[in-house]
Amino acid sequence: MDEVYTKLRSLQEILAEKFEIEREIEDIPKILATRTELLNRMKKSYLEKTREYETKGRYIEELRNKAIEAERVREGFEQQMDMIQTQREYEALDKEIKDSGEKEQDLRRDLQREEQLHQEMKVNLEKDETMISKQEEEVQKEQSRIKEAISERSKDLKALEKKEKSITPGLDEEILFKFERIIKSKEGTGIVPIEHGVCSGCHMILSVQFVNDVRRGDGIMFCPYCSRILFNEIEETEEHGEEEEESGDEEEGEGEADSDSEGEGDSDDGGDDEEEDGD
Ligand SMILES: [Zn+2]
Repeated sequence: MDEVYTKLRSLQEILAEKFEIEREIEDIPKILATRTELLNRMKKSYLEKTREYETKGRYIEELRNKAIEAERVREGFEQQMDMIQTQREYEALDKEIKDSGEKEQDLRRDLQREEQLHQEMKVNLEKDETMISKQEEEVQKEQSRIKEAISERSKDLKALEKKEKSITPGLDEEILFKFERIIKSKEGTGIVPIEHGVCSGCHMILSVQFVNDVRRGDGIMFCPYCSRILFNEIEETEEHGEEEEESGDEEEGEGEADSDSEGEGDSDDGGDDEEEDGD
C-alpha cells in the first residue's frame, strides 16, 4: 500500500505539471487574439477614415468648380462694363460684380480651408498606415513566437508523459482515472495525508471508522467530502520538498510490474461522491 501511495504522489507532481502546461498551451494563443483584434480595429478605422478622406476630396472638387464658375460669372459682368450707358445700369452691374466677387472669394476661402483639412487627413492616414504595418509585423512575430512556445511546451509535455508512463504500470486504471480528474479539478492535489483525523485537503473531520479503514490499508480510500485520496499521516512526515524519484531506498521497482496485488481491485469506496468534482 505504501508503495502505491508513493507512486501516486510522484505521479501527482507529474500530472499537476502536465495539466499546468496543457493549460498554458491553451492560453498562449490568447495574446495573439488580442493583438489581432487590435489590428482589425485599426484597419477598420483606417478604412472609415479613407472613405471620409475621399468624400472630402469630392467635396473639394465641387467647391473648386463652383469657385471657377463664380469667377467666370464675375468676369462676364466685368466685360459688360464696356457696354454700360446709364448711371443706373452702371450701379446695377457694379453691384453684380461686387456680389459675384464676394461669392467667389467665399468659395475660395472655403476651398483653402477644406484643402488644408484634406492635407491633415492625408498625414493622419499615412501615420495610420505606418502603425498598421508595425502592428502587422508584431502579429507575425507573435505568431512565430507562439509556434515556438507551443513546440517548446509540447516537448516538456512529452517528457512528462514519459515519466508518467514509467510510474503508472501496476496502478489500478480506475483509480488512475479518478486521480487524474481530482488533480485537474483540485488544483494539482489529489492525494493528501490525514492529519489528526482531518482530511488535510478539505479540512473536514473524518469518521473514526474511516480513519481506521485508511490505517488498515485494505485499499485506496477517497475523502468522502473532496474526493482526494487519503493516506495516513504517520507514514511520511518529511516528504515535502525532496522527493527524488531515483533516491529510491524505499521506493524500488518503479517501472517493473510489481507484486502488491492484494490491495487493489476492491477499492471503490469513493465512487459515490464522484460527481462533486466534475467540471
Ligand atoms: Zn477531503
